[in-house]
Amino acid sequence: MEEQTRLVAAGNLLEAHTWKGMLEASGIQVELKGEALLGGVGELPTGIQNVELWVAESQYELAKQQMASLNAHCPQWKCVNCHEINESSFELCWNCSAERSEKYS
Ligand SMILES: [Zn+2]
Repeated sequence: MEEQTRLVAAGNLLEAHTWKGMLEASGIQVELKGEALLGGVGELPTGIQNVELWVAESQYELAKQQMASLNAHCPQWKCVNCHEINESSFELCWNCSAERSEKYS
C-alpha cells in the first residue's frame, strides 16, 4: 500500500468532486476524505463540509501541477473596490458592480 499525501482541502463536496474528476482524467488516483463523507443523509451540519483530496505520494507533484493549471484556467479576481472575490466569468463585481480590475489566483 502506497503512502498517501493530502493534496488540498476543498471548500465543499461539489468542488472536491470537480477536482477529483479533473485529476482522475489525468490519470491520478484521488481519494476523498473528510467529515462531509461521514454520517447519513440529512445529518450533515450545513455550511461545514471539510473534504480533503488525498493522492499517492508518487503522484503528488503531478497532482499539484494539475491543480495549478486548473486554477490558471479559472482565475478568480478580487474587487479593488469592496475586496470581494469574483469568479472568472464575472466582468463586473457581483457585490458592488465595480469593473473587473485585478487578476487574482
Ligand atoms: Zn466589489
